[in-house]
Amino acid sequence: MERIICDILVVGGGGGGLRAALAVKEKNPQLKVVLATKGALGKSGVTALACSDRMAFHATLAHTEPQEPHSWKYHAQDIYEIGGKVSDGILAEILAQNGEKAFNYLDEIGVPFVRKEGLVDQFITDGSDYPRACYTGPKTAVHIEEALVREILKNNIQIVEYCMLVKILLERNQVKGTIAVDTRQDNLDKGLMVFETKAIILATGGGGKAFKYNVFPEGGTGDAYALAYSVGAQLVNMEFIQIGIASTKTKLNCSGSAMRAIPRFVNDKGEEFLYSYFPEGTSLKEMYNYVFQKGASWPVSYEHKTHIIDIAVYKEINKGNKVFLDYSTNPTGFSFADLDPIWQERYNTEISNNLGKEARKASPLNRLKEINSPSIRWLKGHSLDVEVGEMVQIATCAQHFQGGVKIDEKGETNIKGLYAVGECAGGQHGANRPGGNALLDCQVFGQITGEDAANKCPVIQQAAISGNEIEEFKTEVKKMIGTVGIEALKARSELQEVMNQFASIVRTEKGLLEAAKRIKVLRDKQIKLDSHGIDFALETQNLIIISEIIVKSALMRDESRGPHLRFSEYTDNVPIRRKDPDWQKYIVIKKVNNEPELFVHNPLGFSFK
Ligand SMILES: Cc1cc2nc3c(=O)[nH]c(=O)nc-3n(C[C@H](O)[C@H](O)[C@H](O)COP(=O)(O)OP(=O)(O)OC[C@H]3O[C@@H](n4cnc5c(N)ncnc54)[C@H](O)[C@@H]3O)c2cc1C
Repeated sequence: MERIICDILVVGGGGGGLRAALAVKEKNPQLKVVLATKGALGKSGVTALACSDRMAFHATLAHTEPQEPHSWKYHAQDIYEIGGKVSDGILAEILAQNGEKAFNYLDEIGVPFVRKEGLVDQFITDGSDYPRACYTGPKTAVHIEEALVREILKNNIQIVEYCMLVKILLERNQVKGTIAVDTRQDNLDKGLMVFETKAIILATGGGGKAFKYNVFPEGGTGDAYALAYSVGAQLVNMEFIQIGIASTKTKLNCSGSAMRAIPRFVNDKGEEFLYSYFPEGTSLKEMYNYVFQKGASWPVSYEHKTHIIDIAVYKEINKGNKVFLDYSTNPTGFSFADLDPIWQERYNTEISNNLGKEARKASPLNRLKEINSPSIRWLKGHSLDVEVGEMVQIATCAQHFQGGVKIDEKGETNIKGLYAVGECAGGQHGANRPGGNALLDCQVFGQITGEDAANKCPVIQQAAISGNEIEEFKTEVKKMIGTVGIEALKARSELQEVMNQFASIVRTEKGLLEAAKRIKVLRDKQIKLDSHGIDFALETQNLIIISEIIVKSALMRDESRGPHLRFSEYTDNVPIRRKDPDWQKYIVIKKVNNEPELFVHNPLGFSFK
C-alpha cells in the first residue's frame, strides 16, 4: 500500500483543482502539494472535455459595459438575482469582483481569448444586462485546461493519476488524510493508497451521472458531495441542476443557433409533438417565437416561459418515444416572416454566410448554414450528417450542479482543512447559473482556496493515519460492496432511470416520494462487484448518496425556481409558481444519525448596498 505525505492534497485536475494547486505554490513554494486525479491529467473531467456552441468565461473587465468604476457590482447582482436569490450574495460578490484578475491570469498563461479591434470580445448570456462572456470558441474550457496543465507541469507539484479519493479522515473535526484507490486495480487490497495531509481541496466536479441523460464525461459522479457529506460537511442547493436539450449521440447542447434555425421537433412515430404541449389557444406563430427564444434560454428555467419546450421533450421521451430535431424540412405552419421583428433582427446579426431570403425561408438546414455552418461540420465530424437529412436525437440532459459542498468566503467547509472549489462547491451560485460563471468560479475560488490553505497549513500539526483506520475502511467497503447483491452497473442504471423519471424536468410530490423509496431500496442493498471494477462500484455508491439528497431537497422545496420545476400532477404542463419571498432561502443538508437532515437558511447578503 502506497502512503504519501504532503501539506496539501488537491483532488481533481479540472479548472478548479489546477488553479488551486498553482495558487498554493504561488503563495508558498516550500509546501508539498500533491494533485490526485481519477483520470489522466488534462484528459478527465468537464473542463478538459466539454464543448458547446460557444463556451463562455464571464468576467467584468475595464471595458465591460456600463464601464463604471464598480461595474462588477452589476455582475454580482446578476449572479444573485438571475440565480433566484438563493445563493450567498457575498460569494457572488467575490466572484464578480475577482473576475478581471482571474481573466488576466488565464490570458497571461496563454488562453487564446478572442479579441476584436484590440479589445477582448464579450457577448451577453442568460438574461445578463451587459456582455461579460469572454470566449475562445466552442472549446474555451479545454483551452483553459491546457494552459493550466502547462503551468502545473512547470511547478514542483506531484501528480497522482488514476487515483480516486474514496474516504476523508478527520481528527477532532480537522482533516488529517484520505484513503484512495488506484482505478487501474480491480482489487481493493492491491489498489489502496493513503495520503496524510493537513488540508484537502476537493475539486471533483459535478455529479451528472446520477441521471440517465447527461452531458458529463465518465467519472462525473459527484464524489466530493458524497465524501464530504459522509464526514459531516454541509451541502447546499442540491436540488438545482442545469438540465437542457442536448444531442444524445454527441452530447452537444442544442442551444443558440440549433434552436434559432427553427428545426422540426419530431418523434420516432413521425409526429410533430411540440404543439400538443402548449396551452390551448397558443398560435403556431407564438410557439415558433418561443422556439427561437429557446436559443438564449438553455437550460430549463422556471423564469423562462420557454420551459414548456423542455417539458414537451421530456414528457415525450418519458412516453417511450425517441425525439429528434429535424433540419431538413420546415416545421408545420412555420413561416420565417412570423418571427417577431426583434428576433428577425437578432437572426440577422448572426448571419455569417448569407444565402438570401428565399433560401432562408426554405429550410432549417439553410438557416443553420447561414448562422452557424461550423456546427454542421462539427456534427458531421461526430458522425451526424444533417446535410444528408440525418436527424439529431435529443433528450433533456443534466449539465451542471449549481449546489454543492457549502463553502465560506475562503472556500472552506464547516470542517477545518476541508475546502471545496469549482462545481463541487456550493453557495456561490443560485438556482439558475448565468452561463460563464462556472468557469470563472473555478478560477476565482481556485486561487482563494489555494492561498488560504497555504496560509493556514504551516501551523497545523500533521496527525498520522493508523492501520486500524485503514482496516475499518476495508470492512466498511466490504459491507457495501461484495460478491452478492445487485451488480454495480445494474444498480447505476436503475438509479439513473429513477432520477430521470422523477427528479429531472418534471418533479411532483408523488414522483419524488416514489424516487426516495426506490433509492432507499438501492441504498439498503449490497452492491455486487462487476467487471467495471471497484472504482465504478464506489462511484455508484456515491451516486446513490447524492441522489437521495437531491430528491429530499427537491421534495422539501414545494415551489418552482430555476431548473426546479414542481407540478401538482404529472399531467400538468404549468409548474407551481415560485414562492417569493417565502422560499428565497436555501436548503442545507447534513448527515445526522446516518440520514440526511435538511435545514432551511437565509442566504448571506452583499457587503455593499
Ligand atoms: C457541455 C458543457 C458545457 C459547459 N459550458 C460552460 C460554459 O460555457 N461556461 C461555464 O462557465 N461553464 C460551462 N460548463 C460548466 C463548466 O465547464 C464546469 O462546471 C467546470 O468546468 C467544472 O470544473 P471543475 O474543475 O469543478 O470540475 P471538472 O473539470 O469536472 O474536473 C473534475 C476533476 O476531478 C477528478 N475527480 C472526480 N472524482 C474524483 C475522485 N473521487 N478522486 C480524484 N479525482 C476525482 C476528475 O477526474 C477531474 O480531473 C459546461 C459544462 C458542460 C458539461
